[in-house]
Amino acid sequence: MEPKVKFNKEYLVVAQNASGRNLNVPVYRFKSDLPGPKVYLQSSIHGAEVQGNVVIYHLIQALQSAPLKGEIILVPNCNPVGSNLKSGEYTLGRFDPVNGQNWNRAYHFDQSLLDSFVEQVDPKADMAELKGLFRDHIKQGIDEVLTSEWGVGLAQQLNLKLQRFAFDADIVLDLHNGPVSTRHIYVPEYARESAKFFNIPHVILIPNKFAGALDEATFCPWWTLSELLQQKYPERHWQFGVEAFTVEMGSQEVIDFNAGEHDARSILSYLSAKGCFSEPLFTPDVMQRHAVFLRDYKTLFSQQGGIVEYLAKPGQIVKKHELLARVLNVDELEDNRAVGEISAPCDLIPILHFPSASVLGGTQLYKCFTNYFDL
Ligand SMILES: [Zn+2]
Repeated sequence: MEPKVKFNKEYLVVAQNASGRNLNVPVYRFKSDLPGPKVYLQSSIHGAEVQGNVVIYHLIQALQSAPLKGEIILVPNCNPVGSNLKSGEYTLGRFDPVNGQNWNRAYHFDQSLLDSFVEQVDPKADMAELKGLFRDHIKQGIDEVLTSEWGVGLAQQLNLKLQRFAFDADIVLDLHNGPVSTRHIYVPEYARESAKFFNIPHVILIPNKFAGALDEATFCPWWTLSELLQQKYPERHWQFGVEAFTVEMGSQEVIDFNAGEHDARSILSYLSAKGCFSEPLFTPDVMQRHAVFLRDYKTLFSQQGGIVEYLAKPGQIVKKHELLARVLNVDELEDNRAVGEISAPCDLIPILHFPSASVLGGTQLYKCFTNYFDL
């Protein structure tokens, strides 16, 4: 029997501008009458990273006729402040302009909320009921921060309003772009097998360490909860089945409809594998996937300033000592110091590079996979 799927759209207020007007974002929701995972997706928390919006467009097209189980919530262009901050041709969408906070570093995680929750857990509790209680507990913690008499910063306000939705979900996908970048995905170490359901060739495996991002704010509490309960009550297997990913879909400041269709298929293949449809919509492509642990995802900084030609392309295999970039120094054009060369410190795969040719000394030129392996 085909599931019955209800669709609705509402608006969530996430910020307020200086004229006192509310800034809201659309929240698209598909809900099935059949039980299944609850999924949350958002795009463009960094305002210049726009490809996720065309991916969500393709997802919504597909979901209108998909045999959905459970529920999917999609929030495109979730940062109306960041996406409207332009300077000339460019979008300055990475930092809250008022407080300087990175828009993807102000989500909430509080270890004391976990400790207090573990104290109350009935070790025989039904798993679904326990998950519901934990969600309420964490969301209450978020609400306390949001309603503090002292207030919170712009980025944190926006982050926490979105996090309330995300924390209800079993699966969270935060869609980003690199500056000039190949497709890659951040995956919590415990979910590495799930990385094979996406058609994404580069995988970064991350530990249980909270650094402020939405994926971490989702999986760190569940990961920590399962570890604490496993220690306290080892006779039961404490697994909650919650997964969260940051998906980096190409370069910022551009959208590509055809690539977006492929990106959407990759997500639908993962969601199919996770039981979100009564019939799988897609299966993952057969492809090579390179992975690294987060500690081996290295940043190469420029030593000197200058004008850079990026020779190594994102996704290309580079051997130790091969040339990555050439730097032109306009102050030494007449002699042999005019052109500097930057070569690879070890075997690596550049995943992304700085988008501009003009660089100051100390710029993040490249981010690279080192010590990578096949997944
Ligand atoms: Zn981003």
